[in-house]
Amino acid sequence: MEEQQAHHDFIFHSKLPDIYIPSHLPLHTYIFQNLSQFKHRPCLINGTTGETFSYHAIQLTARRVASGLNKLGIQKGDVILLLLQNCPQFVLAFLGASYRGATVTTANPFYTPAEVAKQATASNSKLIITQASYVDKVKDFARENDVKVICVDSAPEGYLPFSELTEADEGDIPAVKISQDDVVALPYSSGTTGLPKGVMLTHKGLVTSVAQQVDGENPNLYFRSSDVVLCLLPLFHIYALNSVLLCSLRVGASVLIVPKFEIITLLELIQKHKVSIAPFVPPIVLTVAKSPDLERYDLSSIRMIMSGAAPMGKELEDSLRAKLPNAILGQGYGMTEAGPVLSMCLAFAKEPMQVKSGACGTVVRNAEMKIVDPRTGASLHRNQAGEICIRGNQIMKGYLNDQEATQRTIDKEGWLHTGDIGYIDDDDELFVVDRLKDLIKYKGFQVAPAELEAILIAHPSISDAAVVSMKDEVAGEVPIAFLVRSNGSKVTEDEIMRYISKQVVFYKRISRVFFVGSIPKAPSGKILRKDLRARY
Ligand code: AMP
Repeated sequence: MEEQQAHHDFIFHSKLPDIYIPSHLPLHTYIFQNLSQFKHRPCLINGTTGETFSYHAIQLTARRVASGLNKLGIQKGDVILLLLQNCPQFVLAFLGASYRGATVTTANPFYTPAEVAKQATASNSKLIITQASYVDKVKDFARENDVKVICVDSAPEGYLPFSELTEADEGDIPAVKISQDDVVALPYSSGTTGLPKGVMLTHKGLVTSVAQQVDGENPNLYFRSSDVVLCLLPLFHIYALNSVLLCSLRVGASVLIVPKFEIITLLELIQKHKVSIAPFVPPIVLTVAKSPDLERYDLSSIRMIMSGAAPMGKELEDSLRAKLPNAILGQGYGMTEAGPVLSMCLAFAKEPMQVKSGACGTVVRNAEMKIVDPRTGASLHRNQAGEICIRGNQIMKGYLNDQEATQRTIDKEGWLHTGDIGYIDDDDELFVVDRLKDLIKYKGFQVAPAELEAILIAHPSISDAAVVSMKDEVAGEVPIAFLVRSNGSKVTEDEIMRYISKQVVFYKRISRVFFVGSIPKAPSGKILRKDLRARY
């Protein structure tokens, strides 16, 4: 639906009607609102051990965790850092924190100690929950800041076991008044430019986003309580936390928790647990589509495959459709700051709608979208490409302690500017065609050029640096660097690559280095990344 507003904005809405959203409820209350209907159904299935936990058990234990957090001194508004692979304790810690009125910040467990410390410091984390294999990454931060560390598996000496939380008495949860604008999740994202920043997602924001996806007059729009939903994508990223986990819990589906991607294990688990919904990212779609082992497994239980977090070409979509003809494959489009879902495929509604290859579905309900000319700021009609902007209760409250970046991203009228280029066609389908912003996406993971540039410039043999993306068949995109050597320096590509590798998680490693005389910049000092990309 397109509508022209008084001040000449062309605004797009969902193909579906708006719905009532109880955005005043705390997230956990909303998520478990219909619990009585599926109390004894399996909520979580541990893909590693086969252990199953009912909805009743998960809700009860989450309340105990809230009480345990309180006992450890966690107050309303305190930040808890989760450094965990996918595991049931991740879910319990997140829900327990929500009951306590605390905020969870999630970090990639593959981060280096320096990357973890940066996020723990910036978010002012008061407690860390991790696993034994990662305690080395947090021990310095914990000691220097007098922060307690809980281990979800066997806790080494000096660290607390997870039972410290789960064995507390759920009757002891302190009365806490949670307001809809309180922050419940704090994922980190670089957004359109600069360094990673804490994205403040509120109770209202996440309730709205989940409702936009699974509530409404098409009940259980695309998740049903009979579904088994694969949770292979990392829960530390908002795509899995919201669109996989929280959406499943809201409808009473069973969530199969898988800690890491290995193709044969994945195919076995899908067959064994009769997975019906498989949320993927394009590199996983690629591996599945190309796997010679596909035919050895019965994957007929899959009724829907979702892909998001990075662009997926039409060819890849079509090749997976040919391999799994019974499953509907639909793309969604998200951005952490947007809560994260902006648009989703509606092939799963009561009246299935046609899925177009390459489309990212239609804008979510109870939200407005406009496409803006990046040069003039004017909003554009259908079939004209421009910057995608979204407005609604689901978007972030802002960046933590960074008003300037918040104002650059959310304008005075409440529009969130994504830095992505796209257009909406005659059937209200959104196509994301380009990226205006600096962000690089390696297999859906964020790589912020500014972060790598800061590390590169700190090298004594480098006087200037610029990092841009290069297309890559497997990863989608990889970072490459253009460097200016300091006077007299003979530093080599190899030395630089090793220097970076020591400091960052694997997907931020530089793939190629080009030494140049100078970095092209606009008079404002902004790096002209397009010019650099055009050079190779
Ligand atoms: P993140 O905040 O990590 O979720 O990254 C958000 C960015 O990923 C978006 O702003 C897009 O640039 C990209 N992205 C996410 N989903 C899609 C999609 N379906 N197609 C193209 N790009 C996407």
